[in-house]
Amino acid sequence: SRKFWVGGNWKMNGTKKEIEGIVDFLKKGPLDPNVEVVVGVPAVYLDYSKGVLPPNVAPAAQNAYKVPKGAFTGETSPAMLVDLGIDWVILGHSERRNVFGEPDSLIAEKVAHALETGLNVVACIGEKLEEREAGQTEAVVYQQTQAIADKIKDWSKVVLAYEPVWAIGTGKTASPQQAQEVHAQLRKWLKEKVSEKVSNELRIVYGGSVTAANCKELAKEADIDGFLVGGASLKPEFVDIINAKQ
Ligand code: 13P
Repeated sequence: SRKFWVGGNWKMNGTKKEIEGIVDFLKKGPLDPNVEVVVGVPAVYLDYSKGVLPPNVAPAAQNAYKVPKGAFTGETSPAMLVDLGIDWVILGHSERRNVFGEPDSLIAEKVAHALETGLNVVACIGEKLEEREAGQTEAVVYQQTQAIADKIKDWSKVVLAYEPVWAIGTGKTASPQQAQEVHAQLRKWLKEKVSEKVSNELRIVYGGSVTAANCKELAKEADIDGFLVGGASLKPEFVDIINAKQ
C-alpha cells in the first residue's frame, strides 16, 4: 500500500526567524508516524533548515537544473543538493511552468537528471482554469505526465502532485470528487502507458488550497495519497493536514 505523503511548499517565503517558528510547531506536532513529511524550502535556506528541522521532516529544494555543474548563473544542481544531504526536489511546479515559462520538455529533463543524481522528486502537473472549462483537463495532465514518462523508467522515487492551477492560492479547492476523478484517470493512464506496478505504487498527491478544514474529506478518497500544501504549510494547521488520515 502507498504510504501517505504530505509536503509543504514554502515557495518564496520565510526568514530564519519564521523558519524557527515553523520548526517549533513541527517539533511539537505530534506528527502521524505513518506519514512521510517533506517541506519545500527556498534554496538559500536549505542548509540552515536541514540543521534545524526534526528528523521526521525532510527538506526539499523547490527547483534544480538539468545538469550537475557549469555556466548556469543562478541555478542549483541536484549534485549540490546531494552534497548538502538534501533528499528531495520539487520540479515542474505551476509557478515554474507559468511564471518562469518552463516547458514540459525541460521539466522532464530535470526530473530525469534529479533521479539519476539520487534525489526523490515531487513532479507537479495540473490544468489551468480555461483548460478545465474547455474539457481539456485529462489531455493536459496526460501530456505533462507523458513528457516525464518519455524520459524516465524508474518511478519508485517519484511523487506525482496533481495541482490544478485554478486551485493554487485561490481558496478554490478542488472538491474531493473533482480531485479523485483526475487521480483515478491518471492511475488508469499510468497502467496503460507505463505499467500496472507504477499505477499501483505511485503516490499521487493533491495540491491547491488544502487547509485543515478540507483535508480530511480529500484524504478519504481512494486515489489521493497525500497533499502538497502552499500557504497552510507556513502555519500550525499544517500539523492537522499531516494528520488528516487520523
Ligand atoms: P496553496 O496551498 O497556497 O494553494 O498552494 C498550493 C501549491 O502550489 C503547493 O505547491
